[in-house]
Amino acid sequence: MNTPPTLFSEEEIASQVTVLATEIDEAYADADLLVLIGVLKGSFIFLADLARKLTIPHRVEFIAVSSYGTRESETADSVRLLMDVRHPVVGEHVLLVEDIVDTGHTLAYLKRLLGARNPASLKTCTLLHKPDRTEEEVELDFLGFTIPDVWVVGYGLDYAERYRTLPYIGELPPEMR
Ligand code: 5GP
Repeated sequence: MNTPPTLFSEEEIASQVTVLATEIDEAYADADLLVLIGVLKGSFIFLADLARKLTIPHRVEFIAVSSYGTRESETADSVRLLMDVRHPVVGEHVLLVEDIVDTGHTLAYLKRLLGARNPASLKTCTLLHKPDRTEEEVELDFLGFTIPDVWVVGYGLDYAERYRTLPYIGELPPEMR
């Protein structure tokens, strides 16, 4: 299998995850407990690394939403809940952990969904952001990297379920799709 060219190396990702964990530790220093909600499937590796770098007390949850089959085949605002969190989040400090924000529809949908459950606070942490693709503005409280409009894979991100476990983040050129 050909491997996609590197956009961010393992070392660059690890150091940025450490920066994010430090920012999150500081932001929630006074909170009793932080509930991390990873958005499946793409965020599972990022969440695993981020959570293990946190020093504040935290709990891990997952939520799953529909994602694109291929970029062209589904409209971006057709977000569907596939699996909900297992515990209510009322009165809790919630941090949504997302792999990548593209149009913004997924994160906007999840903020509306969870915000309606009256958490004590609700913020977002996303590893990657494509500002050129924004259709719905969502506040990104903790952000790893800003990237151009390219298709990225690895470190949890896939293309039709391939490349998800590449240790680095690569840019998938059109001829490899
Ligand atoms: P949004 O709702 O912001 O348009 O899309 C968010 C979701 O689209 C992400 O969670 C991810 O599943 C998918 N996505 C958007 N851009 C990329 C990309 O470059 N690579 C991969 N693997 N998934 C992407």
